[in-house]
Amino acid sequence: MAEPNTNTNQPNGASTNPTTPLPTSTYMPRYIDIGINLADPIFRGRYHGKSRHPDDLKGVIGRAVEVGCSKLIVTGSSFKSSRDALKLAKEFPGTVFATAGIHPCSSSIFSPSHHKHHDESQSEGEGEGEEAEHTPACGPDPTKPILDGDGVDHARSAKIMTDLADLITQARSSSSSNSSNNNTPELVAFGEFGLDYDRLHYCSKEVQLHSFAAQLALAASLAPQLPLFLHSRAAHGDFVRLLQEAFGPRLERLEKGGVVHSFTGTAEEMRELMGLGLYIGINGCSFKTAENCEVVREVRLDRLMIETDGPWCEVRPTHEGWKYLVEWEVKAKAAEKAKADAAAAEAEAAAAAAAAAPADADTPVASEVEGGTGQPGRRQRPKKQPQQQQGKKNQKKESEVPDRYKVVKKEKWEEGAMVKGRNEPCTIERIAKIVAGIKGVSVEEVCEAAWANTVKVFGVDSDS
Ligand SMILES: [Zn+2]
Repeated sequence: MAEPNTNTNQPNGASTNPTTPLPTSTYMPRYIDIGINLADPIFRGRYHGKSRHPDDLKGVIGRAVEVGCSKLIVTGSSFKSSRDALKLAKEFPGTVFATAGIHPCSSSIFSPSHHKHHDESQSEGEGEGEEAEHTPACGPDPTKPILDGDGVDHARSAKIMTDLADLITQARSSSSSNSSNNNTPELVAFGEFGLDYDRLHYCSKEVQLHSFAAQLALAASLAPQLPLFLHSRAAHGDFVRLLQEAFGPRLERLEKGGVVHSFTGTAEEMRELMGLGLYIGINGCSFKTAENCEVVREVRLDRLMIETDGPWCEVRPTHEGWKYLVEWEVKAKAAEKAKADAAAAEAEAAAAAAAAAPADADTPVASEVEGGTGQPGRRQRPKKQPQQQQGKKNQKKESEVPDRYKVVKKEKWEEGAMVKGRNEPCTIERIAKIVAGIKGVSVEEVCEAAWANTVKVFGVDSDS
């Protein structure tokens, strides 16, 4: 894990970017994944309504904990996923926490054409067809038609909001009744909710605006309030306006703060959100382009949170941010080599000193051996560093950044392996490395800042 050590006096052979310190050897990174959709059936081996492999949720959580991601905030994005997230929080107390809310892409339940009541859809997903069983992915789907002219059913909306208020009240009382030996609550945020104008094919703008405003009103009325877990995509102006209408122009009535997760907006938008006291959630989708990475560079450490948004938003070799992972590997290898060289030189010096001890005139003195060349403990040939790829694409690029765990296709699922294309929380270390690389700070600084911000807002760490 953290073998490179900038505290030794060994020169770092690969100082391609000397402003990016490597972690000290004693630091064990710790992470909180603030946005992970573990209620998605894909983590039970179900893909588009079909079972493809055994339920491996425990393995997913185990790998996360193994890399230091000891707290997982599971996103509730519909009635069903919110309830499932709360169940998981009960099942994994102190590790899993839940949010509850209605995602903009799940907000068609507010419209008259929605054919099922939201409560009836418990076991079947809440939208149309098998796809709807999964949590909303992080990108637009250009194959889907945009919905419009589908207004709000106000009677239905009133019922939905009563049910959501009940769900939150129940979750809070259940949390407090369970807290005798564990002070952290199961429900830690209101959300995921917000606006997504990139995906109007799931829900029209009019209905999204209604859903967001109604949930903001409920969030503002809670006593005490909950922190907010917010989603904003291509909707910044309306997003900020509705927040201000609910909580005041400076969000002065927002008691517990909130995070705008999976941030992919502009630097100006990000600065406005930070100025309102909100936190910025960074995941793989935040590193897609050079412009995205420039925005990440400007996120203040005291406003940063990190997430995977699994099963979505993995960092891909095509993303601009990938190069920071490659850079990390190059440096880590160089530091490892420097350490090995130092150990070899030390061993040689010790051997030479031992040989010189009998004071035999024929024995070469230590100083002659110091270079070490030609001796049994000879210097290793420097390993070839990964070349800057050009053209030879993702396979090569992928191999430049080794996977910590074996990755297999879902058809070839095996115990202990990750599934290709299914992002999971153990990859959060990549998010931390890329943020560190972009900002020119250490991974330790990134991890500790994100940890502190997350604990402060969501209260997920009662034991520290
Ligand atoms: Zn989201």
